[in-house]
Amino acid sequence: MVNTMNDLQQLEELDKKHFLHPTSPIKQQQESGPSFIFKEGRGIFLEDYKGNVVIDGMSSLWNVNIGHGREELAEVAAEQMKKLAFSSCFATYSNEPAIRLAAKLAQLAPGDLTTTFFTSGGSEANDTAYKLARHYWILKGEPEKKKIISRTKSYHGVSMGATSATGLKPFRDFSSSIAPDFLHVDHFNTDALREKILIEGPETIAAFIAEPVQGAGGVHIAPDHYFKEIRDICDFYNILFITDEVITGFGRTGEWFGMNHYGVTPDMMCFAKGVTSGYAQLGGVMLSEKLHRDFSNFSSGTLLHGYTYSGHPMACAVALKNIEIIERENLVHQAKEAGEWLRKGMKWIQSERKIVGNVRSLGLMGAVEIKNAGEANSKGANPKSPLIVNEAAKRGLICRSVVFDHQDTLVFAPPLTIQKEEIEKMIAILNDAIKSIEERS
Ligand code: PMP
Repeated sequence: MVNTMNDLQQLEELDKKHFLHPTSPIKQQQESGPSFIFKEGRGIFLEDYKGNVVIDGMSSLWNVNIGHGREELAEVAAEQMKKLAFSSCFATYSNEPAIRLAAKLAQLAPGDLTTTFFTSGGSEANDTAYKLARHYWILKGEPEKKKIISRTKSYHGVSMGATSATGLKPFRDFSSSIAPDFLHVDHFNTDALREKILIEGPETIAAFIAEPVQGAGGVHIAPDHYFKEIRDICDFYNILFITDEVITGFGRTGEWFGMNHYGVTPDMMCFAKGVTSGYAQLGGVMLSEKLHRDFSNFSSGTLLHGYTYSGHPMACAVALKNIEIIERENLVHQAKEAGEWLRKGMKWIQSERKIVGNVRSLGLMGAVEIKNAGEANSKGANPKSPLIVNEAAKRGLICRSVVFDHQDTLVFAPPLTIQKEEIEKMIAILNDAIKSIEERS
């Protein structure tokens, strides 16, 4: 229990000594301890042990789509745990929540994506998709089709395959011996993709993977025609098209899935995050009917790929309830509407603040660029967005800065439940935070 300042200091010391944090500046943590130790969440708000209440402007990691503190999900998890906390899905064993969730996902997903392989998160989903794509071509008698093409500024996770596919170079440079047969092309440039396919030879390419909206890379939104062209290129060269909907799935962009904006169905679709709104760890890959049929027709052995927690009953029960809430509260539509308020707010900031450049958004994924980022970075100047993130946090808003690839950008992804007044509050805090840095420069 944390009752006194002394208890809290002890907790901070334990954090420094024993907790190696994911994607965190280790020196800063060792010097200053954890920046927040959260205690509770309610709606769009998080509260820490010091009594700070902040707007979770990132839905934590783009995932808490239905907001914090939903007791219904706690109840369904407890019920399922009491009945059947876990059982295997290997060797054709099954469980009811996993079956019902797979069937529900088939109803919701674009086109003929009808069959799901479950994982515990997004990285595992992406690695699964690469392995299934390569296995598919082995089954079809074309084992040389094994290269995976992805894009610059993409983020696909941190397992070895997902790291190798990730276009943001610092993630690949973090460790050595990145996996072979992963190639990258300029994002949004279909000619670059064609050229790469021709240079490498289509007979060597298994799949192309893309996020419908690039999230961690800085909220980059493809032009309208882009994904139709990608689909055509993949069909023409007999390459599987995989979408990474780990962020964009389950209402984030104002549609159930990002690809709904583009009217394109991939051969495989990876999902995670919003499927449970973070209330349990779950991800997966959906396969088109054709792909699934081909797997069934050509495979005679065992599908030698499976995680212990593939089809975890409690996680699947939580996902079903989470989806029920999204439907019941009409949150996909709500995200579209709230997205318009966010867009208006960002435009207003753009008109008010002279250091703000381009702003862009789709549904509840938004980005505000700070001007002259490339120039500043190349002169060795420090980007401003990390300072703005600190100022915003002090004022009660969590958002994120993206400085990869000479960018200097602030990004947002609040829960889909966010109300108009709450967006206005978010925008006001952001404007103040930017202003405070503008005045210093
Ligand atoms: N793909 C995308 C588009 C993501 O944004 C993320 C996580 N931010 C991942 C994959 C990896 O998911 P996870 O962290 O659950 O492994």
